[in-house]
Amino acid sequence: MNEDYGSLRLRMVERQIRARGVKDERVLEAMRKVPRHVFVPPDLADEAYEDHPLSIGKGQTISQPYMVALMTEALELKGDEKVLEVGTGSGYQTAILAELAREVYSIERIPQLAQEAERKLEEYTNVHIKVGNGTLGWPEEAPFDAIIVTAGAPKVPGPLKAQLADGGRLVIPVGSEFHQVLYRIRRRRDTFSEEALTSCVFVPLIGEEGW
Ligand code: SAH
Repeated sequence: MNEDYGSLRLRMVERQIRARGVKDERVLEAMRKVPRHVFVPPDLADEAYEDHPLSIGKGQTISQPYMVALMTEALELKGDEKVLEVGTGSGYQTAILAELAREVYSIERIPQLAQEAERKLEEYTNVHIKVGNGTLGWPEEAPFDAIIVTAGAPKVPGPLKAQLADGGRLVIPVGSEFHQVLYRIRRRRDTFSEEALTSCVFVPLIGEEGW
């Protein structure tokens, strides 16, 4: 059975991710390694390596594998970074980040999802999860070399920009509730430059500074 998931994972990386232009070898390797089927509800395990998002309960979704890869590549992780993730959800993206960075701080607003993700991520000693409103960031642990938001925002939350280190990257979907553009924002001192990467659809980022 494990063998099967392993080969599905290799195929996922080749056909859905590398074929669409993701080149960062470290990202591809992490996606070949992390068992995505563990992070989806048990009855959907056989769909874990398919080319679309899946429902994880509580009205939330685990992102499409390609979107996880694209967003992770955009963070430009080399291995020594302190990363903030807003929207832990299933914890799958968190695991990918934990493979690629030094420390990962992840915030989830739904306690049950946070608890479940924490359990699945137990073996990663560099992962720190808390329940709360991630649009306010994690000020006690700032600054962050990279910040990833995995829910769609109406605008870029000010606290997240403020908690970005000099030279840091913030990857975030911004737009309406039903359609967003994925942006990478790069900080140089107090200047922030924006790049639009692709269009996308995420569940809404809820709360102050969100919807
Ligand atoms: N990276 C996750 C994506 C989950 S969907 C995965 O691949 O599984 C987005 C998540 O963001 C949901 O779990 C939702 O509850 C959470 N979320 C929405 N608004 C939030 C906020 N303000 N703070 C923290 N988490 C939030």
